[in-house]
Amino acid sequence: MTNRPDLPPEIARRRTFAIISHPDAGKTTLTEKFLLYGGAIQMAGQVRAKGEARRTRSDFMQMEKDRGISVSASAMSFDYKDFRYNLVDTPGHSDFSEDTYRTLTAVDAAVMVIDGAKGVESQTRKLFEVCRLRDLPILTFCNKMDRESRETFEIVDEIQENLAIDVTPASWPIGMGRDFIGCYDLLRDRLELMDRADRNKVAESIEINGLDDPKLAEHVPAHLLEPFLEEIEMARELLPPLDVQAVLDGTMTPIWFGSAINSFGVKELMEGIGDFGPEPQPTSATPRQISPEETKVSGFVFKVQANMDPKHRDRVAFVRLASGHFNRGMKLTHVRTKKPMAISNPVLFLASDRELAEEAWAGDIIGIPNHGQLRIGDTLTEGEALKVTGIPSFAPELLQGVRAGDPMKAKHLEKALMQFAEEGAAKVFKPMIGSGFIVGVVGQLQFEVLGSRIEMEYGLPVRFEASQFTSARWVHGPKDAVEKFAQANKQHISYDNDGDVVYMTRLQWDIDRVERDYPEITLSATKEMM
Ligand code: GDP
Repeated sequence: MTNRPDLPPEIARRRTFAIISHPDAGKTTLTEKFLLYGGAIQMAGQVRAKGEARRTRSDFMQMEKDRGISVSASAMSFDYKDFRYNLVDTPGHSDFSEDTYRTLTAVDAAVMVIDGAKGVESQTRKLFEVCRLRDLPILTFCNKMDRESRETFEIVDEIQENLAIDVTPASWPIGMGRDFIGCYDLLRDRLELMDRADRNKVAESIEINGLDDPKLAEHVPAHLLEPFLEEIEMARELLPPLDVQAVLDGTMTPIWFGSAINSFGVKELMEGIGDFGPEPQPTSATPRQISPEETKVSGFVFKVQANMDPKHRDRVAFVRLASGHFNRGMKLTHVRTKKPMAISNPVLFLASDRELAEEAWAGDIIGIPNHGQLRIGDTLTEGEALKVTGIPSFAPELLQGVRAGDPMKAKHLEKALMQFAEEGAAKVFKPMIGSGFIVGVVGQLQFEVLGSRIEMEYGLPVRFEASQFTSARWVHGPKDAVEKFAQANKQHISYDNDGDVVYMTRLQWDIDRVERDYPEITLSATKEMM
């Protein structure tokens, strides 16, 4: 159901999306089933290693150690029916929200998974808000219907009220908990029956000719059929009908009910992603927007990850192709440095195995191994000086000083910190006066991860210490005004890893004062990645 008939078919069939959910709702299980349907893995259970490595620090470090798994699981591609799906993983922990935000700049849609017994949970809401900032189409999967869950109407109401989005049922559950037998597919007039005996078995589909079809009664026990028909009637009266444009605009979400662990409802959801995906969308850039069907290749880096082998400082830059048809070996221009780069060993993430990418199309995610040239926000083109926009850097919410355990190793520490800053793992600031560095993060866990990684990957024990500052703001304004301001406020000034001037304080009052006293200066909590 593409609304862009002019797109080359290879681009039109691509669906690049992310899953957003609260921990435990079933994201990992659903991912496994996607891959199972996509024929990408033989047995479900293979992405588990990563899925469980999430909440505690030690688990996270283990995941970091098993970088192979986490790198390849950052983006996964698989085919199902006519579509090529690119699933981009969002980091599970709430401390990594900036990373999540940037990941969501690389997708065209999001699947929101909720637990049928728990409804909309805190992390779901946060992630949803991020999707809304970008008007991403959102498809909802209500999971764990095989267990006691809330009433269907209650779930729908909660989403509508809590997230202020219209909800239209794409399927409707029949029975609940132990009585749950399956769903009626409202989009295709099919009855889908769940097989409880074999969790990996694809559900049985029965074509039904509308809700009056006597075939319904053959498959649905009478005590479930009656309430089901009543509910459907009510749903049709009370809930908005499917409006494809509203789904694409992000103001309406279709909801499917299912049970990921029983492989139930997953196929319908995949078909839904195919139908409402949508196909690769234009990318905002300066001086002009990039359209996916342009014949010239372009793309942008939305994530950088240290490579599997800690002895080599190799990294993989995750690039979302914004346009064109990419072939291995192509020379692209790295717009920030204006240098050509031969992309000779790009990686495509086919499920759990990494594969060399021979070709890729707009919408695909490729990994480019490099030695640090590629940073988050960088644009690659076939020569045109385009700069993808909308990939922000947020002011950190927590600041700490950091020193090398061994003062002789200060230079080493600087190098390590700069690399982490470029990877997006932390913000690093060099104070104008004094020695040492200030590290800024969004969540406490990131300090611990950072400390462990510096020690593991660089052999440098580090000490974190309380910082006198609690807020950091980028200083924007005419160059000489910024310089003058910096000279007059040296105690408060640091430079970030791009050399941009940052004002630090612990008082909101200071920020207000600066804005009053220096009309040419603005203090900002975000900056565009350059
Ligand atoms: P994640 O934290 O969102 O990745 O959630 P997981 O996929 O790891 O699932 C969390 C727990 O819920 C695991 O124990 C799963 O086995 C279980 N689970 C997932 N899907 C279902 C389902 O459809 N029904 C039931 N009963 N349990 C499920």
